[in-house]
Amino acid sequence: MTRLLLQGGRLVDPASRHDGVADVLVDDGRVAEVGPGLDGTGAEVVDCGGLVVCPGLVDLHVHLREPGREDAETIETGSRAAALGGYTAVCPMPNTDPVADNAGVVEMVAARGREVGLVDVFPVGAVTLGQRGAELAELGAMARSAARVDCFSDDGLPIREARLLRLALEYTRAFDAVIADHAQDASLTDGAQMHEGEVSAMLGLAGWPAAAEEMVVARDLLLAELTGGRLHLCHVSTGGAVELVRAAKARGVRVTAEAAPHHFALTDEAARSYDPVFKVNPPLREKADVEAVRQGLADGTLDAIATDHAPHAREDKEVEWAAAPPGMLGLETALAVTLTELVEPGYLDLVTAVERLTAGPARCRRLPGHGGPVAPGAAANLAVFDPAAAWTVDRARLASRARNTPFHGRELRGRVVHTLLRGAFAVRDGRATR
Ligand SMILES: [Zn+2]
Repeated sequence: MTRLLLQGGRLVDPASRHDGVADVLVDDGRVAEVGPGLDGTGAEVVDCGGLVVCPGLVDLHVHLREPGREDAETIETGSRAAALGGYTAVCPMPNTDPVADNAGVVEMVAARGREVGLVDVFPVGAVTLGQRGAELAELGAMARSAARVDCFSDDGLPIREARLLRLALEYTRAFDAVIADHAQDASLTDGAQMHEGEVSAMLGLAGWPAAAEEMVVARDLLLAELTGGRLHLCHVSTGGAVELVRAAKARGVRVTAEAAPHHFALTDEAARSYDPVFKVNPPLREKADVEAVRQGLADGTLDAIATDHAPHAREDKEVEWAAAPPGMLGLETALAVTLTELVEPGYLDLVTAVERLTAGPARCRRLPGHGGPVAPGAAANLAVFDPAAAWTVDRARLASRARNTPFHGRELRGRVVHTLLRGAFAVRDGRATR
């Protein structure tokens, strides 16, 4: 294995509270030394002057569509998109076909991820059999499998029955796993097309009230408190939900939460275009919600930025609004959207933003070798990016197999230059190596 010296970059490593110019020497897939002016004898020197070096990004929430919808994305194309986005770890949700509700499917997903080898793939297992919400899947068997699943979710759907969520939270305490819930009260969102508010009223589209998310968040928090289990809330999108999580954390509930870039960068105003690329679940909310999500990320109420990368085949997504499935791409734009929408306007400083993309999400799960610290002996899972580079998102140039990015045509700041997985380039000079 090669020896690499990442020279002269600004090392931002939230887990060790490091922020300053430092070299990183990588040897045999691991970080060998960190510090100023390291000796690069026998190492390939990679000039990182003017660039930020940080732990590889961690995405708690992606849909890679394999098995079942390989026309929309595969573990290979999704891994490539992830690496190009600076990620070294992604957690695919189980709503595939077949559903990842047993050891066989999660092991297949993990093995395929290893074969592709561009990022580490940590599959999420389903909470209920077939995600049908009727009976618990074999959580223990998935946890004990070669995939070592430590997070379960019926994402795409909420866990409707409180009794089942309680059982899952109780049962998974035995192996310290996390239950990640998609908070949505389906009885309030039946037929809903977008966020319920002024814009939905104007457009005449059926609305999805913030309460449909918040009442489930409240229920979930109460059950986490009751059971002592570990709860994670997916894609928190409303001000009320942020407030509920903040209050629960203050009283010691074991809860972590994530927000998606589109929920802090876009509002329901986008629906006026009737372009289904802006249709997503939960829906784009109002300005006050966007502001609350930004504040939640700033003060740590929301632990992580997670993309909810949801690729769709063109023939499915490029139809009229009402017929289109919800979901947006995110892996290749998340870092730049974060820098442009949160760091540049001053909501988060760069170190906090990097934390919410690396150490923050890593803390929500067990993801060995990810999230930092960048210290001697640690796996060399690293991202190197140019925080100042401006670029325009072009959906035709994405590595994802799908095209449904809501940021097409937007100028963003911040571009990934290199991504290293265990010391090997997955992305070099902005290009995937495989
Ligand atoms: Zn979801």
